[in-house]
Amino acid sequence: MSKEILITGGHVVTLDDTLGDGLGDALGDVPGGDVRVRDCVITQIGVGLRPGPDTEVVDARGRLVVPGLIDTHRHVWQGAIAGFTPQMTGYGYGPAVLTGISLDHTAADIYAGTLWGAMQALDAGITTIGDWAHALQSADHADANLRGLRESGIRGLFFYGGPGPADDDPNPPHPLDARRMRDEHFPGSGSGSGSGSGNSGTGNSATGTGRLRMGMALRGPCFTSPERNRQDFAFARELGLPISIHVGMAGTADAVTALRRDGLLGPDVNYIHANQLTDEEMDLIAASGGTVTITPSTDMLMQFGTYPATGRALERDIVSGLGVDTVCSAGTDLFSEMRLALAAERSRANAESLARNDLVHEVALHQRDMLRLATLGGAQVLGLADETGSLTPGKQADITIVDLRSPHLDGFGDPVAMLVLGAGPADVETVLVGGEFAKRDGTLVGTHAAKARDLMHETQDRLRAAIR
Ligand SMILES: [Zn+2]
Repeated sequence: MSKEILITGGHVVTLDDTLGDGLGDALGDVPGGDVRVRDCVITQIGVGLRPGPDTEVVDARGRLVVPGLIDTHRHVWQGAIAGFTPQMTGYGYGPAVLTGISLDHTAADIYAGTLWGAMQALDAGITTIGDWAHALQSADHADANLRGLRESGIRGLFFYGGPGPADDDPNPPHPLDARRMRDEHFPGSGSGSGSGSGNSGTGNSATGTGRLRMGMALRGPCFTSPERNRQDFAFARELGLPISIHVGMAGTADAVTALRRDGLLGPDVNYIHANQLTDEEMDLIAASGGTVTITPSTDMLMQFGTYPATGRALERDIVSGLGVDTVCSAGTDLFSEMRLALAAERSRANAESLARNDLVHEVALHQRDMLRLATLGGAQVLGLADETGSLTPGKQADITIVDLRSPHLDGFGDPVAMLVLGAGPADVETVLVGGEFAKRDGTLVGTHAAKARDLMHETQDRLRAAIR
């Protein structure tokens, strides 16, 4: 028997763009609106919708109902080591984390860290994530990472990273185990356009199976030789998997130029950070159809650059999304990233206008532009816009409900502005992924939520003993 949920009376912000005309929302906002969910899909959005006899009603009066948020870049395995390197730049983070505590993670720790890391995201209203899994010392670690992600119930892409830092070869090829992973766990992958097609498993949403797809987290030209980079790109494209690389942070010049030289640019490449790229390199990404992931916290806190790539990406119409990147040095939510992205972009614009003694009354970007990056933009980056990223009938029911009744959110103006200005994970009351509750009345729910905290603490105890 099918299951129906009716979310009633909320301020519904659909981000719906089904007209596809680029002129804005098709459904727009629906104040006092209702969202009907049947099984895993949104079936209707309107006002005064009637529940059936077996419908589960979720009262959303005084709440904002938005599409589930989308984090396009996070190292989810780090869930158990949040806050580990708060003062470190990228140069300290490498030895402390990537060739440090990463190596102390057993496969069981990777499972625990990833499960908890996904819970951190779900708790903050993030229903889809790009998991850049780069602590894969072995095939067991890879399987453990995927299992944690899958059991959390979150949607997203598992970007297979590596190679394991314990490898003797200082410049080894991307792990060939990625082929095994694709064939075993993502049997449909690679058969389509190479943009993340192919579902994981059987579509049984009870354990999150069916919500994950696979990609390749490559080192890219900044972190390997040109020859090895060409081989890695060829491997990813042979497997038909989308590619994600870190580029354009401080100290890593010319990455996109190198890709052009080697004929490797393409719409299947996602560029993380990108803040130090030249204008010509940003133009190359735009012309090739690549996507950008903006990571404000780590860009600014970890000396990856000065201003995040927000404005320079948007003014070129590059498909862009936001990313938390590492919870070792950043928070766990996208509200902070939206605030920081907007503040940094305004600061960049302010610096230019103040230098001309040009005082303006209003700035170009709105908080709604940031929400778009954190929802529909992110879905486009991950190749998932057909199934998530907006509240559109026919799409998966990935929905985040934020309580606006607290003093810091009960405002006079646009509720989306209030959300971006002041919300945090604790304001997220209810989260649905594919029509299933991941958080309800402020508490994480689901099959694995209860054990995730205990497993995370066990891993923390073990890691403390290992690094003592
Ligand atoms: Zn990263």
